[in-house]
Amino acid sequence: MAAKKNAAMSFNQSVEQYFDKAAAVTKYSKGLLDQIKACNSVYQMRFPVKIGNNFHVVEAYRVQHSHHKTPCKGGIRYSEHVNQDEVMALASLMTYKCAIVDVPFGGAKGGIKINPRKYTSNQLQKITRRYTTELIKKNFIGPAIDVPAPDYGTGGREMAWILDTYLTFSPSNIDAYGCVTGKPVTQSGIRGRVEATGRGVFYGTREAVSNKQDMKALGLEPGIEGKTVVVQGLGNVGYHSARIFQEHGAVLVGLAEYEGAILDPTGKGFDIDKVMKHRAKTGSILDYPGATNIEDSAKCLEIKCDILIPAALERVIHDGNAKKVKAKIIAEAANGPITAEAEEILLKKNIMIIPDVYLNAGGVTVSYFEWLKNLSHVRFGRMDRRYHQSASNDMLNVIERLSGSPATKGEREKVVKGADEIDIVRSGLEDTMINAYRPIREVWKRNKSVHDLRTSAFAVAIDKVATAYLELGIFP
Ligand code: NAD
Repeated sequence: MAAKKNAAMSFNQSVEQYFDKAAAVTKYSKGLLDQIKACNSVYQMRFPVKIGNNFHVVEAYRVQHSHHKTPCKGGIRYSEHVNQDEVMALASLMTYKCAIVDVPFGGAKGGIKINPRKYTSNQLQKITRRYTTELIKKNFIGPAIDVPAPDYGTGGREMAWILDTYLTFSPSNIDAYGCVTGKPVTQSGIRGRVEATGRGVFYGTREAVSNKQDMKALGLEPGIEGKTVVVQGLGNVGYHSARIFQEHGAVLVGLAEYEGAILDPTGKGFDIDKVMKHRAKTGSILDYPGATNIEDSAKCLEIKCDILIPAALERVIHDGNAKKVKAKIIAEAANGPITAEAEEILLKKNIMIIPDVYLNAGGVTVSYFEWLKNLSHVRFGRMDRRYHQSASNDMLNVIERLSGSPATKGEREKVVKGADEIDIVRSGLEDTMINAYRPIREVWKRNKSVHDLRTSAFAVAIDKVATAYLELGIFP
């Protein structure tokens, strides 16, 4: 299906267009497809918060896109650009994302229309607690109902406020800690959640670039090592993506924040932690020693590189700049960074797009692990770590005795190390991202009318949600 011409599509219209394009290659009835596509519940609210001597009327949303599985799940963002269309688009993406990585939730999203930088921590706390109370009043939050998480402009601190507010209203609910994920570890969070989306972006991209045939089509060698990378947005997702790509041998040639971008003229690549330290000290990534400044931050999207990682906000690559993109691969760490119009241009340029709906699912995957931890009331690894350590130790002793050759201290430590929570979380995330990529690539390669990974990812998601509805017996 061709993109709608004339007026630029809204974010939600773009997502619906991706859905329609993928739905056309599936076998499901129009009624079922309409149900999958529609946002089930949209809660728009306005509430007063006293800031200084004045009252601010705050606009906020929670959208539950799909109840085919419950609870619903999706982040909460704080941004002055929040609007109903955006929250609906993001909630829809969550349904498809959860389906792709086999996380048993329906999609949801929340948003508060504020610029968090303009408020003090106390004021943000007031707003967050009031928003949570509004959700409680309408039964829009709860471990079995709808479970928020961090998104743009929010993090562990906000999730802890949400938890505390929810607990105040449900003190006898033993599962109440599962009402929100992305909490600090001390507040029943899980190790590895903060880095999870960025780590998932790494695992997913590594999987895509490991295919010899696909890389040959782009004129690239398989593997992450040596690939030149540009990252836009150095918040939670962008920073951890950059850090983990760097750890695995990628070369960070360009970095961007809202105040501007920096380009590495040496070819050696930036050290992300040194850049972050410079920013913490000076308030900007600009003027980093040895770097070339780019005052217009959006120009970072036009830097020549192998992998471009937009990790800030949606719709940053549009029909106005898509022609100037020189990357060979775009790894969508942010939600919706490419408009539907831009995507047509990029695909014609033979740029591989690893879509958000798959690539940034690491966050919700580890949120799922956190929710499971909260419901089971036990840390992963607590019950069996010592047991595995001692069993591996015994096994190594037998091998040493039979072979007559002792293991080195380092070898023994490696073999007998029992898995702790962080090891289990990372291993579950890696496994999830690898397994989820395979069917997406298969649909892309097998189906002649599917020309890109986004369409195949949506087709995989539609298939899974449709199967859930069919098994419920709602649609004959
Ligand atoms: P964040 O608020 O932690 O970071 C976003 C960063 O982008 C900030 O540092 C901000 O200053 C920067 N930024 C804003 N405008 C910019 C611009 N024009 N150019 C360059 N940088 C700019 O948010 P986040 O949680 O990292 O989310 C980023 C994106 O990833 C969003 O699209 C979000 O929906 C998506 N996402 C987040 C998660 C998660 O777990 N946090 C999960 C999935 C998807």
